[in-house]
Amino acid sequence: MERFTGSFTQQEPIPEEAIAAALRVLQSGRLHRYNTIPGEVAEAALLEEEFAAQTGASYCLAVASGGYALACALRAVGVGPGDRVLTNAFTLAPVPGAIASVGAVPVFVGVTEGLVIDLEDLAAKADQARVLMLSHMRGHICDMDALMALCAARGITVIEDCAHTMGAGWAGRLTGRWGTVGCFSTQTYKHANSGEGGLLISDDAEVMARAILLSGSYMLYDRHRAAPPPEAFADLRLQTPNISGRMDNLRAAILRPQLRDLARQCARWNDRYRVLDAGLAGVPGLTRVARPEAEGFVASSYQFLLLDWQDDAIRAVIARCAARGVELKWFGAPEPVAFTSRYDSWGYVPSEPMPATDRVLYGILDMRLPLTFSLEDCALIARIIRAEVSAVFQGDLSAPGGVARVE
Ligand SMILES: *Cc1c(COP(=O)(O)O)cnc(C)c1O
Repeated sequence: MERFTGSFTQQEPIPEEAIAAALRVLQSGRLHRYNTIPGEVAEAALLEEEFAAQTGASYCLAVASGGYALACALRAVGVGPGDRVLTNAFTLAPVPGAIASVGAVPVFVGVTEGLVIDLEDLAAKADQARVLMLSHMRGHICDMDALMALCAARGITVIEDCAHTMGAGWAGRLTGRWGTVGCFSTQTYKHANSGEGGLLISDDAEVMARAILLSGSYMLYDRHRAAPPPEAFADLRLQTPNISGRMDNLRAAILRPQLRDLARQCARWNDRYRVLDAGLAGVPGLTRVARPEAEGFVASSYQFLLLDWQDDAIRAVIARCAARGVELKWFGAPEPVAFTSRYDSWGYVPSEPMPATDRVLYGILDMRLPLTFSLEDCALIARIIRAEVSAVFQGDLSAPGGVARVE
């Protein structure tokens, strides 16, 4: 019986060029982004300049984490205590957490079988808030033309959570470039790895000036190279609190070479995704997630659905795959295991049951696809899932790998 022995949490090493750049920063001793000598441009400022150019955004700000970027964006567009913010019922804990951190209240919008925000539900709830924090959760991108038209018509400001979509787009336009602000994470499990880190991009001078002041710029915003002109700060500089969350030069140095290589890495993720997805075609009872033509996805993780399966049968699939080295995360588990990703796990947020969403959430199985996996690894993982899902679905539990029973 085949067994997979790789690690779903092992990322690639930091590239040599990035290690060399990090060493230069360490040797200089000038890790703080505003600690520069005459004529020197800080790594953090260069990172912002380069990411703005890479995405086509007018402005960019590097910060301490993806979660900080989200909260900073909310504050920068004027969200405050007691405000309501629309967001996805299917996302990761830092998203409702960012909303709660500014004293605001999430209003959850449902998820479709395509694992994107349900635009009908969004339309139905549009009058409840003036801001939408849209999470491109697990890299699934909704019809952005339709979403932006809906939000424009209802006067809703959109902040995009691109933690899983750095390098991805819809209809040829990158995620993060649709809303007023795009927020990215450079935490280890995302598309670029600085341990922790975040980036905001925007074309809105006032919003970005506020974000830079919020991040803790000590009035040194003229040292930024992807910032609005000084006039944009004039009325804000003494009115905007400093909520420190800057990125340091060490992380910026590690990120710059990685971002230059982003397109190649994205192609490598999608190569792995295609092998896995093809290997899971036509498995009875297993629903693959449709990817629309316009979705320029980057699949650094893989999801499939066991829609309308019994609890015990889903548990059996998970146990049998785990016994063969394939770790599946069940987003639908009634009691969340490890990280949380569904609206009813966040007990600090009031929410009404959402039956159509519950059905989808209940059926989602997920795995990461780190670039340390080879294409053959992906083919093997697909064979294991295929065999175990089929065995449980057909009730043939004498098949290899049987570690759980469905009564
Ligand atoms: C990781 C993540 C974030 C936040 O990123 P951190 O850098 O860990 O704070 C936000 N949204 C989603 C969907 C994420 O997965």
